[in-house]
Amino acid sequence: MNNIAAETALHVQETGSPASNCIVCGGLYRASHLPALFECTNCKFVSANLAISDEELAEIYGEDYFHGEEYLDYIKEGESLRLNFRRRLDSLERVFPELSDATVFEVGCAYGFFLKEAEGRVMRASGMDISADAVNYAQNVEQVNAQCGNYLDLKLPESVDVITMWDTIEHLKRPDLFVKKAANDLRKGGCIAITTGDIGSLNARMKGKNWRMIHPPSHLHYFSTKTLSRLLDLAGFDVIHVSHPGNSRRLRSVLYFLTVIKAGRKELYERFQHSSIFNIDVTANLFDIMYVIGRKR
Ligand SMILES: [Zn+2]
Repeated sequence: MNNIAAETALHVQETGSPASNCIVCGGLYRASHLPALFECTNCKFVSANLAISDEELAEIYGEDYFHGEEYLDYIKEGESLRLNFRRRLDSLERVFPELSDATVFEVGCAYGFFLKEAEGRVMRASGMDISADAVNYAQNVEQVNAQCGNYLDLKLPESVDVITMWDTIEHLKRPDLFVKKAANDLRKGGCIAITTGDIGSLNARMKGKNWRMIHPPSHLHYFSTKTLSRLLDLAGFDVIHVSHPGNSRRLRSVLYFLTVIKAGRKELYERFQHSSIFNIDVTANLFDIMYVIGRKR
């Protein structure tokens, strides 16, 4: 642990809250009613303990992350994921009709499935991810324009028309810096498209600490439509679209989630997973994932 991380950990121990102020409004954090999370006393933004080091974060996104840690064999689920990405492109095109002439950059491109879908529908698509394993696949198998690294360190050669962050912002230590950089990298009138869990949704409020999106430290931030809109506004975006689209998943991954991740019963999963019924793709909508698009002012 480096000095800063040690100091922050000590601060958390002594005061029960992260050393940093709210990344949305600068307010002070206090312990949330949700265990191990903190809530801004001013804007109600919810965060995990940010004392986690960059090394610890990098470790989370090793090869295991995409194979069982969060996604059951992300690559085998490709078909469902591509379907979701096509729908997200459809929604984006409705509010940004010039999409076919646009240059698109994806922050958190993982295995490149979105970039592959986007390639046929936009002028140019490229992206970046912190996971070397995922980027390797994106480059060599999907053959898309992906690079490995931290977006905050990237110098784009020219401004782009659209920046996407699919299910990524909740993982970032400093989403405020990412959104500000996106505003710098976009041309005026360009769009940022974001999906993430909505902690203000009915399902999240009903489930409380058991809401499926709550798992620090891989999910560090928990936005609502209100806090995400505020973050975007502060970075220079007008929010032009908010929706809660459904998500398609292969039934086998639902089985995996329920038996292995939730119940810790791997043997149940092994017993049933080979049944062909689990090859079906299902679209579920708990209306707790939000899709927000901002236009740079
Ligand atoms: Zn706040």
